[in-house]
Amino acid sequence: MPTSQTFVIVGASLAGAKAAETLRSEGFDGRIVLIGEEPVRPYERPPLSKDYLRGETGFDDAAVHPAAFYEQHTIELRHPALATGLDIEERQVTLSSGERIGYDRLLLATGSTPRRLSVPGADLPGVRYLRTVADSDALRQALAATPQVVVIGGGWIGAEVAASARALGAPVALVEQASLPLERVLGPEVGTIYRDLHAGHGVDLHLGVGVEAIAGSGAAEAVRLTDGTTLPAQLVVVGIGIVPRVELALAAGLRIADGVAVDEHLQTSDPNIFAAGDVASAFHPRYGSPIRLEHWSAALNQGPVAARNMLGVTTVYDRTPYFFSDQYDLGMEYRGWAPVFDRVLFRGDPAGHEFIAFWLRDARVVAAMNANVWDAGDAIEALLLAEHHVDAARLADPDADLTELAESGR
Ligand code: NAP
Repeated sequence: MPTSQTFVIVGASLAGAKAAETLRSEGFDGRIVLIGEEPVRPYERPPLSKDYLRGETGFDDAAVHPAAFYEQHTIELRHPALATGLDIEERQVTLSSGERIGYDRLLLATGSTPRRLSVPGADLPGVRYLRTVADSDALRQALAATPQVVVIGGGWIGAEVAASARALGAPVALVEQASLPLERVLGPEVGTIYRDLHAGHGVDLHLGVGVEAIAGSGAAEAVRLTDGTTLPAQLVVVGIGIVPRVELALAAGLRIADGVAVDEHLQTSDPNIFAAGDVASAFHPRYGSPIRLEHWSAALNQGPVAARNMLGVTTVYDRTPYFFSDQYDLGMEYRGWAPVFDRVLFRGDPAGHEFIAFWLRDARVVAAMNANVWDAGDAIEALLLAEHHVDAARLADPDADLTELAESGR
């Protein structure tokens, strides 16, 4: 029997678009309203700091669905439209236009916003962030003149933008307050590899130092560091982390804990409301704690899980965290979760950028990164799921079969 229910998705993001797709593929024939702030249809963000930024691929390659998809599936894509209010008693979302849309189930896929740099001069023209396709377009345009680039932040945005800017021929300096790029997630052993990779491609690295000010009359001209160094800059790219967009949920009184708190079914403290993607701090049954994953794979896979739960098909989100990165000629995939580890083991050739790094805790593999090795994903996943003690010598031995190690630990 056709339903007259309305499911509203706030956030025409990857998570939101995949949720809408899943609602239809699971047979929901009620009304689906997908609300997005940006003027373009939903797209994936990984290319924005890589091939799309470098002008090697276009928007259609990044788009989640072909343009006709939403109409074909009777998904009301409302964009650009900003959801400004959420009334959980009345079950209504308010748009900035004043329009109110009632819902039976709601998905919050509101994502995150770049953390702003708060030093003198940070709002000068020429200081840019990268979050949206419009940001990436503006950056590409600015990079066309091969300006002197200063990247602030040696996380994923900083590292990938630095690599893309170098590929486009721009001189690049990178400033990171930690002592190594990507150190927080990858630790010192692999952070060192990325430091050397960027240095080898001519990036002028300033590590373990902060930014004091951005100087310039009318536009950014230089970045002053806390160690007294002044870096000339015609373009400053800031990638110092993101802040989950919890405003709607917070104002509505939903439980917030480093993001919108959801259980393993991605359900918030209100049973009619779900959350997915960057904004969701989701209880992960395998790790026994909430994790907020700021990565493409969470958006891709949580959207469908949220959709099924919205339909009453109880589904647990317990995937292994996963992300990938491409910088210069080093492509990698990372699986697992290693907030605490006691050892890193390498298999293969780290110096030659063809290796697998394993993060171990109590002799168990808790995360692994395969760099320029592309046939190990399934075995690594099996190893992570097995959770048993592994023989470290065999783990490091490229001739020892990983699948066997996953099966027996030896
Ligand atoms: P991020 O990966 O969290 O890295 C932010 C980096 O900026 C950290 O290294 C941080 O150092 C540093 N930092 C913070 N404040 C600073 C300051 N005032 N001066 C200098 N450095 C500072 O965040 P992001 O690079 O901005 O990326 C944004 C989001 O997009 C993240 O969630 C990221 O996971 C995602 N993303 C993912 C990929 C991928 O998966 N390949 C690619 C691009 C973006 P501390 O650690 O010391 O605070």
